[in-house]
Amino acid sequence: MKVLNKLNDPELGKKIVGRVKEVACRAAEKLGRQVVLMEVCGTHTTSISRMGLRSLMAGLVELRSGPGCPVCVTGAEDIERMLLLSRIPGVEVATFGDMVRVPGKNNSLEGERARGSSVKIIYSPQDALTLARETPDLEIVFLGIGFETTAPLTALTVKNAQALNLKNFSVYSAHKLVPPVMRTLLNSGNCQVDGFILPGHVSAVTGSRAFNFIGEEFGIPGIVSGFTPMDILDSIYHLLTLILQGEHRIKNVYRCVVRDEGNKEAQKTMAECFHTGDAYWRGLGLVPESGLYWRDTYTSYDAAQKFDLKKIVPANPAGCRCGELLQGIITPWDCALFDEQCTPAHPVGPCMVSSEGACFAYYRFEGSGVRNGL
Ligand code: SF4
Repeated sequence: MKVLNKLNDPELGKKIVGRVKEVACRAAEKLGRQVVLMEVCGTHTTSISRMGLRSLMAGLVELRSGPGCPVCVTGAEDIERMLLLSRIPGVEVATFGDMVRVPGKNNSLEGERARGSSVKIIYSPQDALTLARETPDLEIVFLGIGFETTAPLTALTVKNAQALNLKNFSVYSAHKLVPPVMRTLLNSGNCQVDGFILPGHVSAVTGSRAFNFIGEEFGIPGIVSGFTPMDILDSIYHLLTLILQGEHRIKNVYRCVVRDEGNKEAQKTMAECFHTGDAYWRGLGLVPESGLYWRDTYTSYDAAQKFDLKKIVPANPAGCRCGELLQGIITPWDCALFDEQCTPAHPVGPCMVSSEGACFAYYRFEGSGVRNGL
């Protein structure tokens, strides 16, 4: 409890902010401009906005959001295919809440439900499995979204379904891997940042060493970070110190959760069920070896094959700049639709839908959401 209280101690927070600002001043002086950092993970984006860190560090450190919101990076084609699934008679789509409001070309899953489709919000893949057992006359399709954090649980659920010989359960896998997208982002040259705040949850599975290539091959430092305000401040402090010292390595300051080698058991379960392949990421296009697809042993649980889903030409919403946002090229303020035509009540793009989306976080904690008491 003592430790938990310290994590939220405002006096300690002020002292730490003072120290971070001090080292930020020196790093900015060294670079001759403000330091640009990217928080890769959507949960970090939300925490940073909630604690007002962007304005606290203004002029010294710019914090840009990256491709770490699973709902936001789900490609337009995947969204259309999920909508197709929801329209198949006898199919019930089971999904996490954020997905139902993501706008497709003409509709969202929420809209399909209003037209009579069966779309159920669940809290874990296991809930979808339970639905399948309880409603044998329905085909339950779970939408598998997320990174290394959620993919092992999806894999485990399909293993359980196979053990139970369930015939009315399948998964549409849009699961993705974070290290390959970081490589693509860095190879693109679009991502001009001085350091990365790396995702703690993903690293708990992959291990911190999965990100070592960022320092070794691209000469950019990174910190594997936890999620409390103190964790994030501490990570920024360490990152700025690495920049000051001219060190280009990946440092893990979330050691209570993340090991260098990661979670071997979770890695094994993923490898047993999935093979990797190229996958479309919103805004980033085709990212080599970044998608997780079912191995032959599990094809009867692959919704894409079970329902023979056709290929669809992706369509991104007109005027939406989520793609540039997810690469750290712009912030939500640079999108002309932000807080005007695009709000959480009327989202134009996925970054305004998900609770981990940068546009949603900026609106809620730094934009009109503050005034409107969202
Ligand atoms: S404000 Fe809306 S339209 Fe603009 S990038 Fe964000 S989600 Fe897309």
